[in-house]
Amino acid sequence: YYNENTIIFLDGAYVPAQQATASLYNQTMHYGNGVFEGIRAYDTPDGVRIFKAKEHYERLQYSAQVMHIDLPYTAKELELITYKVLELNGLKDAYIRPLVYLGDNMSLTPTAQVHVVIMAWEWGNYLGDKLLKVRTSSFQRPNPKSCFVEAKVVGHYTNSILATTEAKNNGFDEALLTDAAGFVAEGPGANFFMEKDGVLYTAPLGNILAGITRATVLELAKELDYQVLERLFTIEEVKQADSAFFCGTAAEVIGIAQLDDFVFPMEWEDSIGAVIQKKYKRRVAHNEYQNVYI
Ligand code: PMP
Repeated sequence: YYNENTIIFLDGAYVPAQQATASLYNQTMHYGNGVFEGIRAYDTPDGVRIFKAKEHYERLQYSAQVMHIDLPYTAKELELITYKVLELNGLKDAYIRPLVYLGDNMSLTPTAQVHVVIMAWEWGNYLGDKLLKVRTSSFQRPNPKSCFVEAKVVGHYTNSILATTEAKNNGFDEALLTDAAGFVAEGPGANFFMEKDGVLYTAPLGNILAGITRATVLELAKELDYQVLERLFTIEEVKQADSAFFCGTAAEVIGIAQLDDFVFPMEWEDSIGAVIQKKYKRRVAHNEYQNVYI
């Protein structure tokens, strides 16, 4: 992720990653109370562009707010800082990781001291580019009554690590998790879509992270005149679908070959997912129809 030349943003300064330090008494490390984002920048014909920076930084602000964290920067300021980090590191296609972590506090109360770090590095597609073998997880996504599932909170990701590890230990590439009521929710770090009879289905908001890529897929599907239903469905229904895919900032759009021992009957190239995948790549890498925010 970094070497002796890497520069990160930390609390108002651009500093070498190798010299940045954090206290071992910080509340984020002990109790998982911190918030973060996962963003991508692309080398477009118009120059380096952060895809949907506004949406990502507004989600970071939402995550901070529900966790009682006082984020000392506006979304716009964070966007400008991020462009500076990319420039200082000579990065064009990059994954960007803003992390808001807290100061020393060993009690379970809000922490006044807030640290903001923004790092970036080159990162290929998180789930690779081959069709995935997915396993239904024995772990469910956190109950929305036990936390804010729509916030990207550090501690929530222990659930994702358990699910990913279980899938990999059983010879699969990725996990698919249900929600606390047993309906299909999402992957450990990506949202899920399936296709059946020419219609796309995805879980409604409420039990899942409101993915920014999911929102982009909904936009693209609308532009392409595909019908999408945001509704609850079961693992059994997925096993009657024609095709399926995951989508997320790190993974982009990636097709799924099978769920458990069920192989999706449609060739990926013939699926709506493949059309969306191509259109997504064009949108992010060619800066196509992006909101001009800067
Ligand atoms: N679900 C979870 C649990 C995630 O961690 C992510 C990645 N942030 C996503 C879905 C996809 O969200 P996005 O498209 O905003 O990256």
